[in-house]
Amino acid sequence: MDGRILTCVYCGHEYPQNTPAHGSQVLTEHIKVCGSHPMRKAEADIALLRSALAGLIGADSEDELRQMEIAMRLLPAPDADKAVSINAIHALLATMTPNAGVKAAAEGSPAAEGSEP
Ligand SMILES: [Zn+2]
Repeated sequence: MDGRILTCVYCGHEYPQNTPAHGSQVLTEHIKVCGSHPMRKAEADIALLRSALAGLIGADSEDELRQMEIAMRLLPAPDADKAVSINAIHALLATMTPNAGVKAAAEGSPAAEGSEP
């Protein structure tokens, strides 16, 4: 009511008048798309590391990774050697982005599915 405009501390984006400073859906929606939010750097770093690791392992999709883990476990190699590769496969599986395949197509539009963590 006093005319204060709440802005994003990272990019200066102005929120609608009387947006509360916390707990508002408007805030969380902007954080997801704010190009200056520190999360974008973290996401880019994860993507870079994933890409490098996928290049080493030679697989990126969940199906390929799971097949590779099965093949790796059956391989007649020292357990210590297999553990390195299996750990890498698990790291790639753990950092899988949901709908990675359709991410490019959905770029810029708000997420229509999935739930908040
Ligand atoms: Zn922002």
